[in-house]
Amino acid sequence: MHIGIDLGTTFCCVAFIDEGIPQVIPDNRGRNITPSVIWFDGKTAYVGEEANKKKITVFAPIFEFFKRDMGKPTEEMPGKPEFAPYEIGGTKYGAIGMSAILLRKLKRDAWQYFKKRKLIEESTKESEFNIEAVITVPAYFGDEERNATKFAGEIAGLNVINIINEPTAASLTFGISLKENKKILVFDLGGGTLDVTILEIINGDSFKVIATDGNTQLGGKDWDELIIGYLKEKFKKETNSEIPDERFYDLQQLAIQAKKDLSESEETTVFLSDNGFDLEIKLFRSAPPTKNVIQLDVKSNAERPFYFDERSSKLLSASKERCSTVLKASNLSWEEIDEIVLAGGSCRMPMISDMLERESKKTIKKHREGFSYDTAIAIGAAISGQSKGRIEDVAPKSIGVKLVNSKQIAFIDHLIYKNTTLPAKARKQYLTDPYAVLEIYEGESKEPLECAPLGKLELENTGDKATIMLEVNQDGILKVLADYQPEGIKETKINGSAAFPDHLKEKIQSITIIS
Ligand code: ADP
Ligand code: MG
Repeated sequence: MHIGIDLGTTFCCVAFIDEGIPQVIPDNRGRNITPSVIWFDGKTAYVGEEANKKKITVFAPIFEFFKRDMGKPTEEMPGKPEFAPYEIGGTKYGAIGMSAILLRKLKRDAWQYFKKRKLIEESTKESEFNIEAVITVPAYFGDEERNATKFAGEIAGLNVINIINEPTAASLTFGISLKENKKILVFDLGGGTLDVTILEIINGDSFKVIATDGNTQLGGKDWDELIIGYLKEKFKKETNSEIPDERFYDLQQLAIQAKKDLSESEETTVFLSDNGFDLEIKLFRSAPPTKNVIQLDVKSNAERPFYFDERSSKLLSASKERCSTVLKASNLSWEEIDEIVLAGGSCRMPMISDMLERESKKTIKKHREGFSYDTAIAIGAAISGQSKGRIEDVAPKSIGVKLVNSKQIAFIDHLIYKNTTLPAKARKQYLTDPYAVLEIYEGESKEPLECAPLGKLELENTGDKATIMLEVNQDGILKVLADYQPEGIKETKINGSAAFPDHLKEKIQSITIIS
C-alpha cells in the first residue's frame, strides 16, 4: 500500500487508492486539506489548523511558506551554512525540518485513518506504521529541492518511493480515463506559487511533459495583499488612524474570506472595527461595464470603488506572461492546446479562468467529475504509485559547469538545457589544470551567483584536458563523470552527497505533534 502526498506551500492533501478507486485521506477532523502552518517551540509542534489558532493568541513562533526555502542551503545540510534558518530553543532548523514536522502529522492522519478503516491491524503503533509515499513537487524544483523534499519525507518516517511533479500528478488525475491523445496546459495557481506546464497525454497512460515554468513569487497570497492594502487604506481615510500591526492576522483572515466570497458572488462587505470605529467596507468582483462615456464626480473627490478584477491587473498580466513563456518553450500555440486544466485553490477566482479563456479563445471546464482543485495533485500522486502509465519528464532547470574566461571572469557553460526530455546526456572536453575542482550549477543565468551550486568534482592528475559528462536520469537524478587519461573514468554522484545530521533527525522525530 502507498499514499500520495501533495506537500503544498499553503495546503497539503493526502490520498490513496482504495480498491482501485482514488480516495482522499481526511485529517483527524475530517477535512480534506491541512494548512502548511506550524507553531513550534522546540519541543511541541502545533500543526495545521491548530497552528493557525495559535496565531490569534500568540504571535510567534509561527512557520509558514517554508516550501519556498526548500533546497536553499541551511545549517541542516553540512557545508552549506549561508542561509539563515529558523532558530528555536538553541537549535537551527530549516525548510527540511519544518516539512518533516508537517509530514509527520500527515503520516499520523493516514495511520489513524487506515486503522479506522481496518486497512491495518488495530494494534499497529504509529512508529510501526510503515508506508510508502509518493510526494509531489513543483515542476520547476531542481535537484536540490527534490532532494530536500525526499529527506524531509524520510525524516518523517515515510518510505519515499518517488518524487513526482505536481502538474504531472494533476494530469494523471485528469487523463487516466482518456482514450484519445491530448495536449494539455496545466495552470496551477496555489497560495504562493504559479506553475504552468504543457503535457502530452497519449492513450491515457503515457504522460510526456513538453515544457514547464513557474513563478515562485506569485500566488493567492498576492491577491490577499491587494485586499489587505485596500482595507488598511480605507480605514486610515475614514478614521485617520492606522490598524495596529498586532491585528495583522485578523486583517489577513478578513481579506482571505472576502476573496473567497468574491469567488462566489459579485460583491461582499468587510466589517472592520478597531479603536472604537466600526466600518463597513464594500468590495466588488468587477467594474460595471462602461457605456460610451465615463462620468467621474470630480467635486466630491469620489474614489474609485474596489473592483477586484481591475486591481488584480498586474497579477493577471504576470500569470499571462508565464503561459506565453511556456507556450514559446514548447513551440506550440494556443490553438494546438486541446485542453486547459486548472489546479490550485486560487483557480477558484473567476478572473483566472476568464483571463485564460480570453487568451486561449477556448472554453475551460470548471467542473470535472472526480477532479477538484484542492485534491487533484494528491490523487495523481496516489495514482502514479500504482500506475502502469509511463511518465516522461523534462529537465526543470539548465545544468552547467563553472568556467573562467581569459579575463578571469567566472561563467556557467550550460551543457543540459531546461525543458530537455529526460533522460538527458551531454559531454564536452575542457582544458583543465591537472588538479582542478569542477563545480556544477543549475540555473538559467551565465552568472554563477545567480545559479544554485549542485556539487563539486575533484580531478586528479588529469594532464591538461578532461571530458566532462553530465547525465540526468528519468527521475531527475544527476550524475557527473570526468574522463581523462591515465586515470580513466572518475564518477561522482552529485545527488545525496550531503547527509542530514543524525542529531537533528532524532530531535525532529522526538517532537510532540499536536493537531
Ligand atoms: P498550495 O498549492 O499553495 O499549497 P492550494 O492549491 O491549496 O495551495 O491553494 C491555496 C490558495 O487558494 C490560498 O491562497 C487560498 O486562499 C486560495 N483559495 C482557496 N479557496 C479559494 C476561493 N474560494 N477563492 C479564491 N481563492 C481561494
Ligand atoms: Mg499546490
